[in-house]
Amino acid sequence: MTEQAPALSTEHDRLCRELGSIAVDYPSGDPVETLGRLVADADAALARQGTEQGRFERSGYLVLLYAMSWYVEARLSDQEDLIRAYEGVLRSFRQTFAESPACTCPDGGHPAPPEPESAAELGVHLLTEDGRALYTEEEEPEEDLSVYDCELYLSGLALSAAY
Ligand SMILES: [Zn+2]
Repeated sequence: MTEQAPALSTEHDRLCRELGSIAVDYPSGDPVETLGRLVADADAALARQGTEQGRFERSGYLVLLYAMSWYVEARLSDQEDLIRAYEGVLRSFRQTFAESPACTCPDGGHPAPPEPESAAELGVHLLTEDGRALYTEEEEPEEDLSVYDCELYLSGLALSAAY
């Protein structure tokens, strides 16, 4: 029996493609619908904080919310419902951090904030253990992906999002 190779779920694969297309300012579908789904999924993950899955999801969704916030600000500034939901979920995630978050990285070095074009891919893969294994295998990132779980790094991303 061979071990099954890690894979993204169909849903995450789709999210990856749709957010990737929005990130390069060329949405393949309806960006309001896609980003609304991102916010709803992120909101649902808040209920899983405190579990390992929740920790993975906080990192993945914050990378995604951070990286897509420029698009909401620049292109969807008339979408009040989406903006309110976007602000709300970011506020809730910010509240999951300690007041003075500590760096938990082994060497204390942080990667630069992810660029929108690469963040869709990175963020979606960070959401699950399988996704992380796949990303490490395919992209061979310089840093261990656990750096994206660092409280100090993540809270910084959450604060620098556009909302
Ligand atoms: Zn750190």
